[in-house]
Amino acid sequence: MTKQKLVLIGNGMAGVRCIEEIIKLEPDMFEIAIFGSEPHPNYDRIQLSKVLQGDTSIKDITINDWEWYEKNQILLYPGETVVSIQADEQFIITSKGRQVQYDKLIIATGSLPIMLPIPGADKEGITAFRDIKDCEKMLEYSKSHKKAAVIGGGLLGLEAARGLLNLGMEVSVIHLGDCLMERQLDKTAGQMLQKELEQQGMNFYLEKQTKEIFGGEKVEGLRFSDGEEIAADLVVMAVGIRPNIQLAKDSGIPVNRGILVNDWLETEVPNVYAVGECAEHREIVYGLVAPLYEQGKVLAKRICGQEASPYTGSTVSTKLKVSGVDVFSAGDIFGNEQVKTMMAYDDYSRTYKKILIKDGKMIGAVLFGDTSEGNRLLALIKKGADILEYTESGKSEQTGGSLVASMADEEIICGCNGVTKGAIVNAIQTQGLTTVEQVKGCTSASRSCGGCKSLVADLLEYTLGDQYNSTEQKEPICSCTTLSRDEVIQEIRDKGLTHTREVMNVLGWETEDGCSKCRPALNYYLGMMNPVRYKDERDSRFVNERLHANIQKDGTYSVVPRMYGGVTNVDELRRIADVAEKYDVPLIKLTGGQRIDLVGVKKEDLPKVWSELDMPSGYAYGKSLRTVKTCVGESFCRFGTQDSITMGIRMEKKFERISTPHKVKMAVSACPRNCAESGIKDLGVVGVDGAWEIYVGGNGGTHLRAGDLFCKVKTQEEVLEMTGAYLQYYRETAHYLERTSKWVERLGLDHIKSVLADKETRDSLNERLDEALSVLNDPWQEAIKSGEIQRELYETVKVPVDMKRGG
Ligand SMILES: Cc1cc2nc3c(=O)[nH]c(=O)nc-3n(C[C@H](O)[C@H](O)[C@H](O)COP(=O)(O)OP(=O)(O)OC[C@H]3O[C@@H](n4cnc5c(N)ncnc54)[C@H](O)[C@@H]3O)c2cc1C
Ligand code: SF4
Repeated sequence: MTKQKLVLIGNGMAGVRCIEEIIKLEPDMFEIAIFGSEPHPNYDRIQLSKVLQGDTSIKDITINDWEWYEKNQILLYPGETVVSIQADEQFIITSKGRQVQYDKLIIATGSLPIMLPIPGADKEGITAFRDIKDCEKMLEYSKSHKKAAVIGGGLLGLEAARGLLNLGMEVSVIHLGDCLMERQLDKTAGQMLQKELEQQGMNFYLEKQTKEIFGGEKVEGLRFSDGEEIAADLVVMAVGIRPNIQLAKDSGIPVNRGILVNDWLETEVPNVYAVGECAEHREIVYGLVAPLYEQGKVLAKRICGQEASPYTGSTVSTKLKVSGVDVFSAGDIFGNEQVKTMMAYDDYSRTYKKILIKDGKMIGAVLFGDTSEGNRLLALIKKGADILEYTESGKSEQTGGSLVASMADEEIICGCNGVTKGAIVNAIQTQGLTTVEQVKGCTSASRSCGGCKSLVADLLEYTLGDQYNSTEQKEPICSCTTLSRDEVIQEIRDKGLTHTREVMNVLGWETEDGCSKCRPALNYYLGMMNPVRYKDERDSRFVNERLHANIQKDGTYSVVPRMYGGVTNVDELRRIADVAEKYDVPLIKLTGGQRIDLVGVKKEDLPKVWSELDMPSGYAYGKSLRTVKTCVGESFCRFGTQDSITMGIRMEKKFERISTPHKVKMAVSACPRNCAESGIKDLGVVGVDGAWEIYVGGNGGTHLRAGDLFCKVKTQEEVLEMTGAYLQYYRETAHYLERTSKWVERLGLDHIKSVLADKETRDSLNERLDEALSVLNDPWQEAIKSGEIQRELYETVKVPVDMKRGG
């Protein structure tokens, strides 16, 4: 049978998903050609927010890599735009003058970001937030610029703003309305969101219309219609999108806001279909993947000549992907007089739930703070469920395992891909799946925004019972390999591998030199497993760790000597002052970790500065113990019940220099007033009458998290013993670059508690930690003493660009 020629215009999420569905139904029916303006294989646009926020990398958001196209015999034309459709003769013409005939043509050209046509909009430093190119521009700008302004307080604007904050920029969000995300949230949720984001460091300018972008060639700031001005080096326009329909329009295919399609995604022109954000169905243009994937399924069946139910439209839901802020909205959330609401507002735990009910049926919902019920509410709203079905099931009170257990088979787990509980359970049972990654590969659940990963994990646990192992959930350590962290460690152990190159060669890495993600990770794992024999590979470390100082944006370095427990003395202060004066240190800054930072030291001066300071490195650059912050405690404070300073100094002296998966901060307070902020440290100790409480998994940074009470012990020795065991368990089981806050959540506090409850286990963990500690020396001393290190690192070193960002 000769194959029909199928051409797809647009190598984006909706079009390629439709092709995947077609291949599943009829692998041999079509000869497929795909044209994409972007030079990349099909990637997950949704994850751009996570790339910007530093949670993943551009390399890791590819959905279908080059091999996928090859394997499925698809001719991909990346970086080639279709400029004309000759519908009468059924061929297309591309920007490279190529003409390609088709029997069936799918248009999936997506949307274009709206760029405000205001004066100054053509200056350098203005970007949208739509594709990899935009994302790269923001990442690049953040390295050398300070102030960002995001125009638009909707979903995209806020996700961009959060990303820019993470990249160290000062961020202002300018919004025309009086409430954030006003299309998805009501006033209460919008205000809660604003408060939360303000606490994270965003500045808001609401009810402001940007009239002009001023500056020279480059952006310098924004002027609003009321005359107010703000400074900005980077402007992100996130004011909306419009369907990309020009090609269709110019080619005579009927359009309105989008390309007009019927219930089978057919345009009015024979053999021409449209799917995704460029399509308008029943007067609606969708801007989220769930409906686009539903469209893709219907279109795939239609094109393959299979019977399909018509596409009748979708109920959409939204989740904001900003860490530390859980927001969900679905269906109609505004209502009118006939609409009743069910509301729960908890000011203490900062949660809010509102369900809208019309004629007894659920029609919309807003959740803030706890969104675990989101997908279930979406399923109920979609089917127009009676509110009694929700309230009487008692499910409104449930979360996690009990929630998935009580869900019906047809309820949706993955909103983006429309995957039901029944489909996932069936896949787990029939295909022997044990990890979230496998469920993703097999059913597409959690494949897009990733918001349902925890529900999928709950379902695995519910279905597999005792056979489920939460620590075995497979995720490759980077795109150079398909092996997970645990598998790599097992292989290193089994095969006795001893250095990073060997690991890459023996385990069949796809790249010769690895990447900036796996090289430092392998270096860490190898060192953690063989602390005595392993020779640290300096070249595999990020630049800050290689040079033992933090690189600053002007290429100078910051030097932070250790001050055990935040305590110093006259001698040290005098030496610091002398060094600062002698080496023209432009800034002397007190750090949040109770030490002194000499900022702006020239690289070639570093060894001399260290030598003259004659203090140990404070490891302010390292994946290691940073500081142990202490309060003044019982010696001076009238509330103090314990000697927090001695405790802190003992901890810092014992655990300094140890290499850990990510930085580790500790603190000791001598009473629950907690002046040393023990509650937001990786490990915080709080003195109470006659005892010490140990808190773990706290984080005061980007991903704010209060520590959990881990245990209560009586003596300083017990604090050291428990801390050592805890630290070593973290070293041995965490993924590289996983902070303890995430690690505690992944492994579960109860699990860690039960492991460390056993004295024998604690002892052996401490033994292994002591062994690792025993071989460590102060790196500044090593550099001072070694002419070779000085020549190699501080005189001639060149910093590879890809490693600069990891510090
Ligand atoms: C930062 C960000 C975060 C998002 N977060 C979410 C989220 O959390 N949840 C959610 O559901 N959705 C989210 N979205 C929206 C989601 O990504 C889109 O709905 C989806 O990508 C649309 O798919 P599409 O295939 O219609 O368009 P696109 O993915 O934009 O693909 C269209 C492709 O066609 C190409 N193209 C256009 N014209 C031509 C031509 N003439 N010739 C060749 N190629 C052409 C374009 O370059 C583009 O690559 C987000 C979007 C962004 C930008
Ligand atoms: S934590 Fe308690 S003991 Fe320590 S300084 Fe504060 S009030 Fe005093």
